[in-house]
Amino acid sequence: MSTINDPTEFRLTGISSRQKETLIYIRNHLISSKSFTMIAGPCAVESREQMFEIANAISEAGAQCIRGGAFKPRTSPYSFQGLGVDGLKYLKEAASRYNLLSISEVMSVEQADSMKDFVDILQIGSRNMQNFNLLKAVGKMSIPVLLKRGIVSTYREWLLAAEYILLGGNPNVILCERGIRNSACFPQPVFDVTAHHRLKKITHLPIFADPSHASTDREEVINIAKAALVSGFTGILVEIHPDPDKALSDAHHSLTIKQFRQLINELKTLIELSKMEWK
Ligand code: PEP
Ligand code: MN
Repeated sequence: MSTINDPTEFRLTGISSRQKETLIYIRNHLISSKSFTMIAGPCAVESREQMFEIANAISEAGAQCIRGGAFKPRTSPYSFQGLGVDGLKYLKEAASRYNLLSISEVMSVEQADSMKDFVDILQIGSRNMQNFNLLKAVGKMSIPVLLKRGIVSTYREWLLAAEYILLGGNPNVILCERGIRNSACFPQPVFDVTAHHRLKKITHLPIFADPSHASTDREEVINIAKAALVSGFTGILVEIHPDPDKALSDAHHSLTIKQFRQLINELKTLIELSKMEWK
């Protein structure tokens, strides 16, 4: 069964446009299917201390990149909206102190240019996957972009969103599956474990997994992360917090630092059984 009707639509993201997988070099790190990339951090940057504590813990555990939202897309306007530029400063300071790469979500065209001075990777969240002006704006930049799958998006819509960025001249796109809504499990999103397998037949772009946003609890995050690794995803983005019950956003699925260490160890064991390297 084909999940895409016309693969020739993907002029730049399709495998026919490029014989080799896209490799993304970010400082001393290489994103490729031969190495595994772990991105971890809080849903939202809440304080300088929080970011330093997390950066210390994740670098010790072997993660390569720290995340933290400074501008948060929240369902309710009454929920915490993020620390804005201060959040980006804390993220940058913590990342450079522990020699980690950093990523944060960009929500608007106006933010895109100034954010490149704070982070190594821009995240486009699921709610903005089809914000075409934003896709065009990051397409004109060279900074790597992690493009989450929209909450109800098909593979075609997702790849064509990536196509906008490549068409603008930026080849550094990472796709990230984060769970989609379907009627059977509504309103909880369901992580699409088949996404890597199916998309790899169509695109040369790297495909990461975010096991956090489709999970109902912390145990599920760990199980989905392991399933994602085994099913071929070559990077994981996971939300953690020093005191998850007090997290200002996404408390229910944020892992404790102890759980994160356990997860990394379990993933490393799985990696040893595969042919990938932990770099
Ligand atoms: C996030 O990463 O915190 C986030 C809001 O993700 P998504 O766009 O996948 O919901
Ligand atoms: Mn989140």
